[in-house]
Amino acid sequence: MTDYRAPLSDMSFVLQHLAGLDALAALPGCEAAEMDLVEAVLGEAGRLAAEVVAPLNRTGDLQGSVLENGAVRTPDGFREAYRRFVDGGWNALPFDPGYGGQGLPWCVAMAVQEMWQSANMAFALCPLLNQGAVDALQTHGTPAQKALYLPRMISGAWTGTMNLTEPQAGSDVGAARTRAEPDGDRYRIVGQKVFITYGDHDLAENIVHLVLARLPDAPAGTKGLSLFLVPKILVDADGTLGPRNDVRCARLEHKLGIHASPTALMAYGEDGGAVGYLLGEENRGMACMFTMMNNARLSVGLQGLAVAERAYQQARAYALERVQGRDLTQPNGPVTIVHHPDVRRMLLSMKARIEAMRALAYVTAADHDRARRAPNAAERARHQRRVDLLTPVIKAWCTDQGCAIASTALQVHGGMGYVEETGVAQHYRDARIAPIYEGTNGIQAMDLLTRKVVRDEGAAMDELLADVRCDAAALAEVPGDDAKVIRHWLTDGADRLERATGWMVETSRQDLPRAAAGAEAFLHLTGTVAAGALLAKAAVTAARLMSEGTGDERALEAKVTTARHFADTVLSQSGGLAAAATRAGASVLAIAEDQL
Ligand SMILES: Cc1cc2nc3c(=O)[nH]c(=O)nc-3n(C[C@H](O)[C@H](O)[C@H](O)COP(=O)(O)OP(=O)(O)OC[C@H]3O[C@@H](n4cnc5c(N)ncnc54)[C@H](O)[C@@H]3O)c2cc1C
Repeated sequence: MTDYRAPLSDMSFVLQHLAGLDALAALPGCEAAEMDLVEAVLGEAGRLAAEVVAPLNRTGDLQGSVLENGAVRTPDGFREAYRRFVDGGWNALPFDPGYGGQGLPWCVAMAVQEMWQSANMAFALCPLLNQGAVDALQTHGTPAQKALYLPRMISGAWTGTMNLTEPQAGSDVGAARTRAEPDGDRYRIVGQKVFITYGDHDLAENIVHLVLARLPDAPAGTKGLSLFLVPKILVDADGTLGPRNDVRCARLEHKLGIHASPTALMAYGEDGGAVGYLLGEENRGMACMFTMMNNARLSVGLQGLAVAERAYQQARAYALERVQGRDLTQPNGPVTIVHHPDVRRMLLSMKARIEAMRALAYVTAADHDRARRAPNAAERARHQRRVDLLTPVIKAWCTDQGCAIASTALQVHGGMGYVEETGVAQHYRDARIAPIYEGTNGIQAMDLLTRKVVRDEGAAMDELLADVRCDAAALAEVPGDDAKVIRHWLTDGADRLERATGWMVETSRQDLPRAAAGAEAFLHLTGTVAAGALLAKAAVTAARLMSEGTGDERALEAKVTTARHFADTVLSQSGGLAAAATRAGASVLAIAEDQL
């Protein structure tokens, strides 16, 4: 099994040249994000990820979390690793210094989070959920709630969870039946939530559950849901821990992957009602939960990238070692499999899509920072529109790529990939959850179509396309064939995305099911073009740096080659994706249930 090494140089390249870290550091509240300091942070995080967190990935998979005597025990080593993670201040990176956070931009926190997710996705899910809960509390909490919970959740002394799903309420969150009865200045929560990630564990002294529940006489559907903060252990106003609340983990699920991450059936109020506190306003719970969900959606997209990176590193190491067959042009002795064009193709296709995902995720996180910090309101609103547009794309496109890349990594290993001891099979199993949770990728495609494109008649998409066309135009300044080819395919992708967007807006008005049938392909087309534009920008930057004689020439050359590979093999498929987006409806709507 291969060790994990954080891809520090690509992370720095993306932050500096694509996310514009220097300009970000000039914004109020982002002063700490000087490149030197950020590189030091990345280096330290990379060490902890490689030396402490990554070695627990395989043992955690084998051992899993277990429910014993009503409490969940995480695998050996997890408690110590979490302690070091918290003591190092890693949990606090992007949060408000007023509550103990470190005030670093989200784009830097994303890079650091990628490392935890690559090192050990099951471990990193705990801080992922906590981070979303902190964001929701910071945005919607009362001053007293913030003062009580935020410092402890930001440090990682307590962790947060997200409780939406019930047996009859999965994608349809509005079908939730968990009840909340007013009880003085608090509420009593009664009901069951399923599939709750880190619903119980032994890493922290308290767990703060964010629970969607329905007040008596609340309207049906999502409009009748309120959000409650339900601590596992009740707390005094000064934070002192009191008695256990009426909430327990009734079962842990046995899953395909992420065995170390406890997925809990949570029972609330079996003994009279769990004490809960309203977060935000009554019947406005979905608005609060969306703060948490949008945060988590970007991080789940990042999991797709992270698991792909880990699988790629393992496949690359194997390809450089495994001896099999002869070189096509010099058929003397046997060679390592990296000499075979097909194996090299698999590796380069993984690398290209990984770098594309990284660029898309970090640049969107930088948009998130600018949406909060930019000096004028119009600029802030423009960046927020970009984040809103690309959140479902990052969630779904990156997680689908994550599964595909983990599968390719397994393929590079041949039969050894299918054998558990090699370890690459674990990445394949772990990656598979990401397209399912946090809103399935089908739900993300519908979100992109209806809320992000049709609602504003394609305005945010037009802004994205204008930026893509600028990136394509910049390639004209770069000499050589590579830039020409990238420009050709990027322009083609932009044209097709523009036409598909027009078709989607038009068709959705008259025949929504027809548009919905093509939504998944439309999302993939958007991801392909948006990420392709960033790789094009990376190629332009790399060419400039080479002409100036700065930077690592081999790595910069590889950037251009990688962008060209993405253009030739992924962007070139834009035509097929556009056809699927606009044509799938004909057959999908023609086939009847009894014909499937
Ligand atoms: C390991 C794991 C961890 C999880 N962690 C959490 C957690 O921490 N908190 C939490 O609240 N939940 C959690 N979940 C639940 C998860 O978010 C749901 O499983 C997911 O939202 C899908 O719901 P469902 O399983 O009921 O599937 P369903 O909603 O029944 O969906 C089945 C299929 O139908 C499709 N579908 C359903 N409705 C539509 C529609 N309107 N349009 C198009 N397609 C549709 C879906 O895309 C999917 O392909 C977790 C699940 C797992 C497996």
